[in-house]
Amino acid sequence: MLELSLAIDGPAASGKSVVGRGLAEHLGIGFVDTGLIYRACTLAVIREKIDPLDEKKVFELVEQMNMDMRWEILSFPEMYIDNENVTSELRTSIIEQNVSYVSRIEKVRHNLVARQRNIAERESVIMAGRDIGTRVLKEARTKIFLNASTTTRANRRLQETIDAGIYTSYEKIFESTQRRDNLDDSGHRAVRPEQASSDAIIVETDNLNVEKVIDLCISIYRNTNKN
Ligand code: C5P
Repeated sequence: MLELSLAIDGPAASGKSVVGRGLAEHLGIGFVDTGLIYRACTLAVIREKIDPLDEKKVFELVEQMNMDMRWEILSFPEMYIDNENVTSELRTSIIEQNVSYVSRIEKVRHNLVARQRNIAERESVIMAGRDIGTRVLKEARTKIFLNASTTTRANRRLQETIDAGIYTSYEKIFESTQRRDNLDDSGHRAVRPEQASSDAIIVETDNLNVEKVIDLCISIYRNTNKN
């Protein structure tokens, strides 16, 4: 059901996960956060003590990795490597620092895009990432690009970090958000609105709260799928 899937792209901390979760709850379809898949590969690279810059070794590891995404709740995808639930280990700073090196390897992307398409071929999903509208789910009728300034995104991340009880500074978060955008700006990935699929709708979220963004995305989905 590739056509009925909803593709969400956008830069780091643009709200893809929280909006994707909300949409999954409202529309009753599963949420696939592809960032978790790249993060799981990065965790495996770190565990195996492979240099993330060693493209050949990273690809060999990813190619034979036994990983899958499972759902107890439609809006909460969980990642498994060899049947071990690793979800809670995927948002640490060591993963954030290394994930872009793993994800920029074209052979790795090729392998993971195929796995992501397999998921959406079974049933329609909400899928979030950076190349969903342009590559993974080109056939999707609804494509949304969530955009926000680096300042807004860094402020949102700062609040989440404080809420999680971790001390950090705005400057550090701003810098790491910008660094990840720069490293992710390759391989047909949309981190800026002009790189989004030509049939994507750009949603500027700087002045909207999460509920408003979710409402807007639901009406876009209903409009593109009516009749
Ligand atoms: O979306 P999230 O920030 O969790 O993604 C983590 C990283 O995974 C990104 O910084 C990017 O390097 C990579 N990624 C990607 N393509 C996707 C999803 C994520 O390259 N479709």
